Formats: sequence, structure tokens, C-alpha cells
Amino acid sequence: MANANIRVRFCPSPTGNPHVGLVRTALFNWAFARHNEGTFVFRIEDTDAARDSEESYQQLLDSMRWLGFTWDEGPEIGGPHAPYRQSQRMDIYKDVADKLLAGGYAYPCYCTAEELDERREAARAAGRASGYDGHCRDLTDEQKQAYEAEGRSHIVRFRMPDEATTFTDLVRGEITVQPENVTDYGIVRANGAPLYTLVNPVDDALMEITHVLRGEDLLSSTPRQIALYKALIELGVAKEIPQFGHLPYVMGEGNKKLSKRDPQASLNLYRERGFLPEGLLNYLSLLGWSFSADQDVFSIEDMVAKFDIADVNANPARFDLKKAESINGDHIRMLDVKAFTEACEPWLRAPHADWAPEDFDRAAWEAIAPHAQTRITVLSDITANVDFLFLPEPVFDQPSWDKAMKGEPAALLTTAREKLVDADWSDPESLKNAVLTAGEAHGLKLGKAQAPVRVAVTGRTVGLPLFESLEILGKERTLTRIDAALAKLAA
Ligand code: GLU
Ligand code: ZN
Repeated sequence: MANANIRVRFCPSPTGNPHVGLVRTALFNWAFARHNEGTFVFRIEDTDAARDSEESYQQLLDSMRWLGFTWDEGPEIGGPHAPYRQSQRMDIYKDVADKLLAGGYAYPCYCTAEELDERREAARAAGRASGYDGHCRDLTDEQKQAYEAEGRSHIVRFRMPDEATTFTDLVRGEITVQPENVTDYGIVRANGAPLYTLVNPVDDALMEITHVLRGEDLLSSTPRQIALYKALIELGVAKEIPQFGHLPYVMGEGNKKLSKRDPQASLNLYRERGFLPEGLLNYLSLLGWSFSADQDVFSIEDMVAKFDIADVNANPARFDLKKAESINGDHIRMLDVKAFTEACEPWLRAPHADWAPEDFDRAAWEAIAPHAQTRITVLSDITANVDFLFLPEPVFDQPSWDKAMKGEPAALLTTAREKLVDADWSDPESLKNAVLTAGEAHGLKLGKAQAPVRVAVTGRTVGLPLFESLEILGKERTLTRIDAALAKLAA
């Protein structure tokens, strides 16, 4: 059932490289919006000048585009609630903070950090709740003037109601929080800078967000936001409290919460290793959601068609790199050959590849690509699989050499060379027969006989189907490489 009134937002802070937890949040919001034919708002929460950077803002945009997310309102495209960068909305927050102060929903708090610490410690020692104690809640004008005269600065604190907050989380069900666990909190710094606690719900209100879907780490801010929302409604700034849904934690190694700083969490890592965006998104969708009991691999369109926030599971999800790779491999196989061939080219032409740009041979690449497509799980693996085609001579992997060149490799290679000279080089079966009969002459099965040939030609014991590889490499280069290996064995 589509519901075009649905408005969701993805509102990251540009503080460093995007991480997979953030991508999952974007994905669930985006899929929820697309499924419902609603609106996906992209907002940049860059009010923390000390931590935000232009570079990470650009990275966010670039990542969103690479992942294939389109937004209906947001940076670069604008929309009815522009601007969508909070750093350009400071007047709005100032105005709302003033209204909250004037209405008595918030108050100036003159406590210093030392005083707050001291009283917090004392409360702890006495076994009382250690949140803000309400010291400045009801200061008289004289008391305020006296503090000002002392030269104290003040923050703005929001006045929490004295009753419990109850709401129905879309993922976790009904949640009730007692007032002693959510005390009055700061919304504007002493220097006048508005805090996340203010700007986030204010923008959700002004942008008419209907569903707030975000990580579980933000669950504790929800009772505060609901209280602030109620004040905003009374002030005529907000219309309706949105529904909240908190996505489960993602656990990494050792069953610890995957942290932003964990290298496995960095989106760039997946891009650099050659994940396809659709493969990565398919995997990330499984962190807290499932497509069906017996299907893990699906297209993004199919995910969108099925996605409902009500199906998200509250239990922590485990991040499993092996599974991510295997799903990505399935998506690589779902590409048509042409798309696969093109997707690999940046890796094959990368400056760090071991061969010179002029040694890249497009025809050879196109010939071998279908064999590679069935075998790799990430695109960056392609170079190690096909480098033998472009390198002037193979780079020998020492363990491979030691493993394959056992027994009488020179005798075997000499016979194999003789048989290969007479083989039909347009037919991999004929090349296979050549190596098979050479092996028989030395009492070796095909597997044992082809190992030294493979290492002589490609440098490694494992790789793409050997006889197709030889055909594509060509007779002359294959024989030269066998000769070089024989010389190396003789030395
Ligand atoms: N800017 C906040 C963050 O990146 C957004 C949190 C929210 O979704 O409310 O954590
Ligand atoms: Zn105070």
C-alpha cells in the first residue's frame, strides 16, 4: 500500500569517511520512501564547525551517488524546505530558541562545568539520579541578573516535563521512559551555537518528516525530541510528532558494536575492493531485515518492492564480511558480460597495475572476461586472475612455484611442450589432451601434470581455466614461458 505522504530523512553529519552503519540507515530510509512512493529528504547536519569538513561533505555526496541513491529534496537539488545544510539555517534555530525561551519551554542555565560535575558526583555518591538537577529551572530575574553581573555565561536548557514519556517504536514496540532518566538538557551552547538536540527535531518539524528511522544509538534522545516536539506544536512551529523506528545495532568482530573507526566499517574500503553498489546494498539490507526465509540475493528493485519498516528486527545484527563478499560475487555473476567487462576495466587500467598501459590488451581481456566473471567475488581480484595476459613475463609466486615444481617437473614440462607444439591452438580441448598425454607419459594424472604448466605460464597454482587461458595467451607466448621455466629449473 503506497502512502505518498510519507516523508523520511537521511541526515548525516559530515565528520569523516562514511561508514556502513550510515549506509544502512540511508538504505532503509530510501527503500521505505521508494516503496511508499513518498519523499526521501537528504539533509546535512553540519552545525558542529569543529568536527565537520567540506571534504567529508563532498565525500557524502559522492558516496550517495555511487550507491545509486537519489533524493527528492536536499543538497544540490534544493526543495520546498531549502536550504538543506544546517550551517545555512542558523537564523531559523535562533528564532525557535528565542520562542522556546519566551514561552518558558526553555531557560538559561548559568551552571559552570565544574559546578555540574561536583553536583553530579555528590548525587552519585548519595545514590541519586545523576542527570541535571534543575538548579536553574526557576531562577528569578534578580538571580539571573546577579549571575550575569558575575560575568557568567549561560547555555539554553530545555525543560523536560515531569511525567513519563511513552511512544511506540516502529521496530521495538512500546517504550516508556521515566522522567528521572531524562532530565533538562542543553539546546544552545554558551556561545550561541545551537546543538544537535535542537536543530535535528526543529528541522524534522519544519521539513514535515513523518518517520524518523535511525540507529539504536539515538534511542535515548527520542523522549527528549518528543517533548521538544510537543513544545514546537504548542508554539505553532510543528504540526505532528513523527513516528520513530530505531534500527538494530550492527556487531563486528568479537561481538562488539561495529564502530565507525573500525576499518571494516569504512565504505571506502568496499569501493576500493571492488564491491558493486548493488551487492553491498543487498548485503547491508540483511542487517536487521530479511527478504525471505530462503533468499539472500536479490536486486535493489525487489528489495524496494518488499521493504517495510515493520519487518525490521530489533535484535542486533552481525556484520559478516565473508557473507558480504559472497553476495557481491553473486551480483557480479548477475551482470551481463559487457557490463562486467567494463566494470573491471578501471582495475585493469589502474596506475598501480603491474603492466604498462600499452600492454593492456582489450581483445585478450574480452576473451577471458567470461571465465573470470564466474570466479571473482570483488572486482579488485581481477588483476591477480588475468595479469599473466598483460605482463611481459609471469611474476612467480614462490609458494606456488615450490608446490608445483616437485618430482620431475623439467621432464614433464619438456614433454608437455612437445605435445603443445603439435596441438590445435584454436581448441582448448586439444591443449588439454596435449597436457593429459604428457602426464600419462610420466605416470601423472591431469591435475598433477597441469600444475607445473600453470605455474610456468601464469606464475600461480590457482587461476582461471588453464586451457582457455593458454589459448588466449597464444602458442608463441606459452612456449616461451615454458622455456623460461625450464631454464629457471636448470639453473
Ligand atoms: N546527524 C545525526 C547523526 O549523524 C543524525 C541523527 C538522526 O538521525 O537523528 O548521528
Ligand atoms: Zn544551571
